[in-house]
Order: sequence, then structure tokens, then C-alpha cells
Amino acid sequence: MMIPHDRRSVKRDLILIVDDEPLNRALLERMLGVLGYETRSAANGREALSAIDEDVDLILLDVNMPDLTGFDVARLIRSAESCSDVPVIMVTALSSMQDRLAAVESGANDFLCKPVDLTELRVRVTSQLNVKHAQDALKKSMDDLEVKVEQRTVALQQANQRLTSLATTDAITGLPNHRSLVATLEVEIARCAANKSCCSVLFIDLDRFKSLNDTFGHSIGDYVLSEFGKLIEKVIKPVGIGGRWGGEEFLCVLPEVDEELAVEFAEQLRQALAQHLFKREPRCRATCSIGVASFPADGRDRSTLAEAADKAMYVAKSLGRNQVRASRDVVSGFEALCEKEASSKVPSLEGLVEALATLVSDRNEVQSRRADDVESLSMRLAKAMNLDNDEVQLVALVGKLHDIGKVAVPDFILQKPGPLSTDEWAEMKLHSTIGAEVISRVPSLRSLAPAIRAHHERWDGNGYPDGIAGEAIPLAARIVSVAEAYAAMTTDRPYRKAGSTDDALMELTSQAGTQFCPEVISALGHLVEQSRKAA
Ligand code: GH3
Ligand code: MG
Ligand code: MG
Repeated sequence: MMIPHDRRSVKRDLILIVDDEPLNRALLERMLGVLGYETRSAANGREALSAIDEDVDLILLDVNMPDLTGFDVARLIRSAESCSDVPVIMVTALSSMQDRLAAVESGANDFLCKPVDLTELRVRVTSQLNVKHAQDALKKSMDDLEVKVEQRTVALQQANQRLTSLATTDAITGLPNHRSLVATLEVEIARCAANKSCCSVLFIDLDRFKSLNDTFGHSIGDYVLSEFGKLIEKVIKPVGIGGRWGGEEFLCVLPEVDEELAVEFAEQLRQALAQHLFKREPRCRATCSIGVASFPADGRDRSTLAEAADKAMYVAKSLGRNQVRASRDVVSGFEALCEKEASSKVPSLEGLVEALATLVSDRNEVQSRRADDVESLSMRLAKAMNLDNDEVQLVALVGKLHDIGKVAVPDFILQKPGPLSTDEWAEMKLHSTIGAEVISRVPSLRSLAPAIRAHHERWDGNGYPDGIAGEAIPLAARIVSVAEAYAAMTTDRPYRKAGSTDDALMELTSQAGTQFCPEVISALGHLVEQSRKAA
């Protein structure tokens, strides 16, 4: 038996012979057997249709048959999904052009004339089978390709997920990173605005982290960050989302949590860190300062809300670190403070403020008059800058109490008629930090401390005690520093006479952008102009 050499070890091709004449079938079976093919036979169209399965590689189809003709069978094969691509060779005694056309139209691939010649049979069968095998191979590689594409797509999706997670996750803590927190905050605020509900933000900064790194090394610093991440997960996760804002700063978003409740969560977190034992470095302790702000009261968009929480955190730092401050308390003004005082049973705040102010003014009459001037000018400047009522009151209080630290400056320096020596200046300069320290011990006045500390800072960063610049200086301090300079220039001093308001304004204007905040100077210009018109 002759077997096609390239398919010897594989399955032999199976050819279905369809003919109603038993002799024709037998003849074709023999010839195909000689050529090395397997055969299957059917005596009519219906038998043929049920004999076709996926093993059949080629069909030799007689045309003239009772019931279904070869053309009918070919058409049915072509329309059946399972065997539409099996090649069909029509075998017939009909040989006119019309018959050939009809054969092609019915879906046949080739044509063999009866009586069948062995060589022609071999050539036509081989050629059709070659096409079929090429098609099968192509189909198989397409299927393989499809599987591979599918596998790659899944792998790509997984890689994308990993990348997205990397892009939104902080490497040290495994918490959401800055980018992710910004997006969360944005979504949360939009949701609250739509539902008219509230949410709160905690801004957290680890205290003295630089010195922790310096003492225990950067890797312990990283470990502390990661441990703090775990505390955030524990305390905050049940109510919100916390992540690393950057460096040693963290931010938490608490949906549907008002400021009061947010302060409680912040306090829990603060305590958890303060009490935390760092197993890898038992000598290491860490604390944090937390500012709390809530939507909509403290900010109506992402940046103002985060800024309000940041400011409250900054106040927590100024008041001695390791504490929680709410934005509301930080900006709340005189009336709110008074209300708080009235409800608790301590002496009226107004009396307390007067008593504190007297501590300084009693020591020097000029000082006393000037303190009144600074207070009222600060207030007018704040109003001219369109600050709201609470802020105006806060600025006025800072104006009244900014020099409270002078209680600690010896009389001979305070009342010296001439310029001060270097040492005397150094002592004098302490009054801003001492003042902030004193005020921060009065719980209801604590919110004034940062501005009192900063009232000798300069816009260009060359002031004292911290050398902070621009808008990092609390606005109340920037206003009071202009009011104080103006009052000093327009009041008699122990060692020189008062100047005119115009001279004072000109002098201060020349310092806008260096010593003083340009916005405050422009408000002062406005006020002086107004009073000139009124006179
Ligand atoms: P304060 O209480 O005023 O916040 O003081 P501080 O020292 O925490 O603040 P400062 O901003 O001066 O220093 C922050 C330090 O945080 C400096 C920096 O080396 C450290 N830091 C920032 N990011 C990382 C970090 O990824 N790993 C470690 N180990 N340290 C970091
Ligand atoms: Mg920081
Ligand atoms: Mg810090």
C-alpha cells in the first residue's frame, strides 16, 4: 500500500465516497486504498450527511443520485457550520460547461470525470488535501494565536493593575500616596457637596522627625513611618482613608464625620502613636501634631480644606507639638471664644485679656497708648482687607496682646531713652516667643500664639524668631507688624519725636515686599487716603 510519505506517522487522510452505485464506490475505495488513504462510504445524500464528521478530510461526491443530488448535498455541506470547509470533488459522467458551473456554484472545489483515471484522481485529491491541510494549519495557528492573545491580555491587565497600584501606593507604608489622596479628597468633597453632607480631613505631621532620623538613622525613620501607617490603618480605616501626603506628613479623609468626631479620631491616633513601642528600636519614641478641618465649614474645595487642616496642624506645632487642633478653634474669633468662656465657669475672657494687656501697659504709659493704637489700626486694616468678622476680632486681639512677652523684658531696656545695645536687643527680641508661650498657656487664647510669635517676622524672611517668609507668616502677624511700625512712627518715642502720617506711609511703602506684606501696606495706603479725605 502506498502511503503519502509525509503523513506516514500521523493519521491517514479519510475520504468519504458518496455514490449510489455500489460498483463505483468499490472502485473508488480500491483506488484510494492504493493511494494510501482511508475511506468511508455512503450510498446516498442523507447517508453522506450523517457520515460527515470532523475526521473526514475530503468528499468525493457523485452528482446523479436519487432523492438528494450531489449538488444538493454540496450546498447542505457548505451551509453546515461543522463541515463547511471540507473540500468536495464532484465525480460525474456529466462534463458540459453548464454542469461544471452548477458544480462550482453548489460549493464544489473540483471536478472529476467518470470513468475515473487513477493519476487524475491522485492529482486532484492531493491538491485538494494540500489546500485543506494548509487551511487546517492556518486555523490552528489562528486558534493558538487567539489563546496567546487572550493570555497576553490577561497578563497585561494584571500588569496594569500592578502599575496602577504602584502609582497610587506609597512604597514605605503601603498606604495611598499623595496622588491617590488628592483624588480621594476631590471625589469626597464633590460627593458631600452633592449630598449636602460633611466630611473631615486630618493633616498629620510627625514631630521632630529630622532629629529622630539623626538619632536612630534613616532606616529606623522609615520603620517609624511604616509603623505609623499601620496605626492609621487601625484607627482610621474603619471610618475613612488615610495615606502618606509626603515626607513625614500624612492625611486622612473621613467621610460623613463632623469636626467634633474627627477631633476624637485624631486624638485616638495621636495617643496611639505617643504610646507606641517600636520593637526594632525600643529607645525610639514618636509623636505627631494633627490639624483637623471639615467640609463645608472650613473649606469648600480640596485645596482650601487641606490648607485649613495644615494651618491647624501648624498651630498644634506652635503650641508645643504632640496635640490635635481643630481649624475652627484656630480661626475662631473673640465672640466665639467669649461664648466658650461664658459657658465654662472661668472669669470672662474680656476681663482676662484686659488683665494681660495691663501687665505690659502699666509699665510704660507710651507703650500703653501705642498698644491701643496698634489694636485699633490692626482692626481697621483687617476690615479694609475684607476679613470676616471673626478674623477681624482675632487680629484685634493679637494687636492688643502682641507685646505681652515684654513682661519679661527688664524695665531698663524697655524704657531706655536711646538705642539698645546688641545684648539688650537680643533680650528684647525674646518678647515674641515669650509672649506666644504665655498666651498658649491660656487655653482659650491659644489660637493667638502663632501670630504673636510671628509679629516680628519679615516678608522677606529676615525677621525673627523663625525667619519664616511671605504667606507662611500668619496674616494677623503681618497686619500687626505694619500697625505696630506705623504706630511707632506716628507716636513720640523716648528718643525721637513722632513723624507725620505721610512720612510714615512713605517709609512703610518703601519696605513693601521686603519687610512688610505688600497687601497690608496697600490696605494702609487706602486707610490713610480715606482719613485724609475725611479731615
Ligand atoms: P517638626 O516637629 O517641626 O515637624 O520637625 P521635623 O523635624 O519633623 O520637621 P522637618 O520638616 O524639619 O523635617 C522633616 C524630616 O523628615 C526631614 C526628612 O529627613 C524626614 N523625612 C522625610 N521623608 C522621609 C522618609 O521617607 N524617610 C525618612 N527616614 N525620613 C524622612
Ligand atoms: Mg513636615
Ligand atoms: Mg515634622
